[in-house]
Amino acid sequence: MQQHIDTYDFTGKKAIVRVDFNVPLDENFNITDDTRIRRAMPTLKKVLEKGGSLIIMSHLGRPKKVDPKFSLKHIVDHVSECLGVPVQFADDCQKADAQAAALKPGEVLLLENLRFYAEEEGKPRGLAEDATDEEKAAAKKAVKASQKEFVKKLASYADCYINDAFGTAHRAHGSTALIAEYFPNDKMFGYLMEGEIVAIDNVLKNAKRPFTAIIGGSKVSSKLAVLKNLLGKVDNLIIGGGMGYTFIKAQGGHIGMSLHEDELMPEALAILEEAKAKGVNISLSVATVCAQEFKNDTPTKVFDIYNIPEDWEGMDAADESLANWKKIILESKTILWNGPVGVFELPTFAKGTLQIAEDLAEATRNGAYTLVGGGDSVAAVTKMGYADKVSYVSTGGGAMLEAIEGKVLPGIAAIRGEE
Ligand code: AMP
Repeated sequence: MQQHIDTYDFTGKKAIVRVDFNVPLDENFNITDDTRIRRAMPTLKKVLEKGGSLIIMSHLGRPKKVDPKFSLKHIVDHVSECLGVPVQFADDCQKADAQAAALKPGEVLLLENLRFYAEEEGKPRGLAEDATDEEKAAAKKAVKASQKEFVKKLASYADCYINDAFGTAHRAHGSTALIAEYFPNDKMFGYLMEGEIVAIDNVLKNAKRPFTAIIGGSKVSSKLAVLKNLLGKVDNLIIGGGMGYTFIKAQGGHIGMSLHEDELMPEALAILEEAKAKGVNISLSVATVCAQEFKNDTPTKVFDIYNIPEDWEGMDAADESLANWKKIILESKTILWNGPVGVFELPTFAKGTLQIAEDLAEATRNGAYTLVGGGDSVAAVTKMGYADKVSYVSTGGGAMLEAIEGKVLPGIAAIRGEE
C-alpha cells in the first residue's frame, strides 16, 4: 500500500530516498546549477524533521564503469550545506551496510553513484561490437539476474522507500522502480514527484476547458506520440516551431529551405484529418520570420508560410501567427506548452517563443492553469525569466514527454502498485 510523506511515521526509521542529483559540474567539479538538489530539499528535510534518518541515492552522468569523474563525493559538501546537517558518504553503494546500520535519527548518508553498477539500469555493458544475438541475450539475462541482488542490497539498508526523482521516473531502473517491491507497505512519493504528478493530472485528467496544447520544437518524428495522445484530449492544438513546416509542405505549401521531414508528411496529414474528425482546432503558423543563413546576425524577412522563397528558411513565428495564438491562449483555461516556436537560442529568432511565454504568464494571471513541460520550452521560460509566472514548470524532460504521450511511468506505477 502506498503511503504519504505527511502522514507516515518516520520516528526512528531509515528512509532510502531516490533523488535526481544529476547536476552539471564544471572541470573543477563545482556545481554550476544546483536546482535539482534544492528541489529535493523539502522531502529530505521532512524525513529528518519527523525523526527519521536518510539514505540518499542518485545517479550522476552516464558512467559505464566506476569513474571518479562521476563520483557523488563532489556534491557531498553542497548537499550538507543545503540540508544544514553533516552528510556521510558511502563510496560503494553496494557496501554501505555498516554505515546504514549505524545511522541515528537526524543523520544522513549519501550513496555513491548508482550507475557505477550496470545493474542499476539492468543493461549489459562491455559487449563486443560483433557480439552475436545469443551472446547479447545471455549478457542481458546475467545482468537481470544480478540486478535482483543489487536492488535487494539497497533495500536492506532501510525501513521505507521514497521516490522523489521525477527526472528518471520513465525508467524502470533498480532504484527508481524495482526497489519498491521490497517496501509493499512503506513506499511513497516525495514532494517533487507529487508536484509533477499533480501537474500531469491537471492537464491530462482534470483539464478545465478550453484546453490548449502548444507543441513546438524541431521535429514531428520526436513529437508524434505526443500529438496523437493530445488529439484525444485538447480543444485547440497549436503547432509551431520547426515541426510546423512538415504540416505546411504536406498540404502543398512552399517552405523554401525550412526544416521538414518528407517521410512524416503522411502522418502530418493523418493528424490534420483526425483533428477534424475529433473536432480539435489545429492552429498552424500563418506567417514566419525567415533568414537565408542559420545565424543571429543576418537579414530577416516575413513571408506567408505557404509561400516561402526557395532560398529562405523559416526561423520564428511572425506577428500574425502570434496574434492568432495569443487569442487562443487567452481564451483557454488549461494550457500545456512543450517545445519552442522558433530558434530561440538565437536572440533574433527568440521573439515568438518569448511572446508565448508572456501569453502564458498573462493567462496564468487571469486564472488559467499553465504547465510548461519537456525539454527546450523549460529552458526557454527559465532563461527568459518566466518560470515563476506560470503555474508549473516540470523538472523532467524525458519523463514529462512520456507522460504527455500517455505512457505509464514505471517510477510512478511502482509506488502506486500498478503494473
Ligand atoms: P525539441 O527538442 O524537439 O523540442 O526542439 C527544440 C529545438 O527546436 C530548439 O533547439 C529550436 O532551436 C528548434 N527549432 C524551433 N523552431 C525551429 C525552426 N523554425 N527551424 C529550426 N529549428 C527550430
